Amino acid sequence: MFEARLWKSLKNESVQCRLCNHFCAIKPGERGRCGVRQNIDGTLYALNYGKIAALNLDPVEKKPLYHFQPGTRTYSLATMGCNLRCAFCQNWTLSQTPAEEGRIEGRDVTPQELVDEAVRVKAASISYTYSEPTIFFELMQDTARLAKRGDCRTSWCPTVS
Ligand code: SF4
Repeated sequence: MFEARLWKSLKNESVQCRLCNHFCAIKPGERGRCGVRQNIDGTLYALNYGKIAALNLDPVEKKPLYHFQPGTRTYSLATMGCNLRCAFCQNWTLSQTPAEEGRIEGRDVTPQELVDEAVRVKAASISYTYSEPTIFFELMQDTARLAKRGDCRTSWCPTVS
């Protein structure tokens, strides 16, 4: 299990997640609104770290970016979970399942493996996308740091298929 970043302890082993504007106060044994961050004995864990649930090589034009590396391909990934509740979400099985059913599925992949594969398939960038990538912040941060060394750019593109 991977300890989350950006949280603080509260009284009685509760914690407050400081990752997004919900600032969830989470009692021991419970999860935050996104369904992928859980308080276990007074420590907040990112249950979705490295659990890749969607992975594709997309044309960068699929992303909501203007003139960003046009004509290239971007290695697009996501974990399950989301801190939003959009009724029209086209990726709802990916985004809403952890909060609604508790399930967090995905293939275990390390940041280095993600970067190695992005380089192998000649992606010019890695996109954190499909749900709201804030909820897999730790994975994004670790991967983006490695990708930068490999001259692979980063794009942060919430809720885009
Ligand atoms: S990331 Fe999740 S647990 Fe943290 S404040 Fe946002 S919704 Fe709550």
